[in-house]
Amino acid sequence: MSGMRDVAVIGAGMGGSAAAMALAGGGWEVLLLDARRFPRHKVCGEFLSPESRSMLDALGFREAIASLCPVELTRAKLYWGGGPPLEVPLPGGAIGVSRHAMDPALHAEVRRARAEVCTETAVTAVRREGQGYRLETRCGGETGVIHARAVIGAWGGGPSRLSAVRAADSPYVGVKAHFEGVAMEPAVELFVFPGGYLGMAPVEGGGVNVAALLDKEAFAGAAAGPGAAGLLLEAAGRHPQLKAKLAAAAPLPGTEAAVVPNLRRRPQAWGDFAHVGDACVTIPPLCGDGMSMALRSALLCARLADGFLRGSLTEEQWRRQYERGLRSEFSGPLRWGHLLQALFARPSLAGPVMRLARTVPILPERLLHATRLRDAGL
Ligand SMILES: Cc1cc2nc3c(=O)[nH]c(=O)nc-3n(C[C@H](O)[C@H](O)[C@H](O)COP(=O)(O)OP(=O)(O)OC[C@H]3O[C@@H](n4cnc5c(N)ncnc54)[C@H](O)[C@@H]3O)c2cc1C
Repeated sequence: MSGMRDVAVIGAGMGGSAAAMALAGGGWEVLLLDARRFPRHKVCGEFLSPESRSMLDALGFREAIASLCPVELTRAKLYWGGGPPLEVPLPGGAIGVSRHAMDPALHAEVRRARAEVCTETAVTAVRREGQGYRLETRCGGETGVIHARAVIGAWGGGPSRLSAVRAADSPYVGVKAHFEGVAMEPAVELFVFPGGYLGMAPVEGGGVNVAALLDKEAFAGAAAGPGAAGLLLEAAGRHPQLKAKLAAAAPLPGTEAAVVPNLRRRPQAWGDFAHVGDACVTIPPLCGDGMSMALRSALLCARLADGFLRGSLTEEQWRRQYERGLRSEFSGPLRWGHLLQALFARPSLAGPVMRLARTVPILPERLLHATRLRDAGL
């Protein structure tokens, strides 16, 4: 795995796979690396928003995802406080699909586009060398060195030795597991309770993905059962309707995952090189749009990387244009996403806000829209 590549992409989640696919499509020699073995379960609501669709199509991922038989989702249901849920339609075709199935399916497409995909290979250091970069890797017990003209960091939002993010810096923990025995309509459901929120989406194969973002402090003394599923069931105990919904549910073995996510308020487009996906921008998970943002940042970045590799842009121009593009597209949705998350952290507002939203249904639709990226400009 030595030799000089045009681009090395570090991290093969949604952002990294999209960047690798876009650049391989441009004829560049791309190496996509991930520390994990796939398939793997990853903390995610597994709700793929309608906004993702056109980008997945543009990348050529549509067929691969359709072949997994995802569940079509027609609306979102919000449970905050008591009373009936607030329902918001999801025009444009949202789907529920597990990361366990989807990520390897995307890797297969990236390979078909002639990029090299190396999993179980962690990048341990990246340094500038000459006109490009030198990457150090670890695969099993073996170390290796790779050279690339350009590097894209797509290592996600959790702690990584390549980012400055430390687990202790985040007040949150994210957990997920698949459950059986949960009755679901074709909808994504969000439950807000003191100390966090939890989303449920049916996924392919009949299971239901349950994922939550929890305040570490609020759950510090929780007498939760073991693992992520234990924390999810403990969270369910804090919301009567959620508790009833999960009363007959059982976690599916081997589907649990946990992460300590870093929800930064502003995009961090560049460190020593370009970042995409959660490594660059993390919208609060309640918006259910992180994957769409990962796709958009990857597409934006890949287009500029192409200019750099062709020699029509300097690296500095790539950096500046990328920062500007992210700022103009992402600032609004990030601001609204953080505002909504702050609102949900105040249980005393549940009654008045839900009453208002039920009386003026256009309000929640507008609010949802405000957390979305505008026209992806494809
Ligand atoms: C609780 C929760 C619920 C969410 N729900 C939703 C939802 O319903 N819908 C939605 O769209 N988004 C949701 N998100 C957000 C979504 O999961 C992320 O935005 C998306 O996964 C970002 O993709 P990514 O490629 O940037 O990172 P990831 O998918 O996290 O991929 C990063 C990859 O990098 C690899 N990596 C890390 N370090 C290295 C290294 N040194 N060397 C090699 N590889 C490395 C990791 O193994 C990993 O596979 C949710 C997030 C949370 C926390």
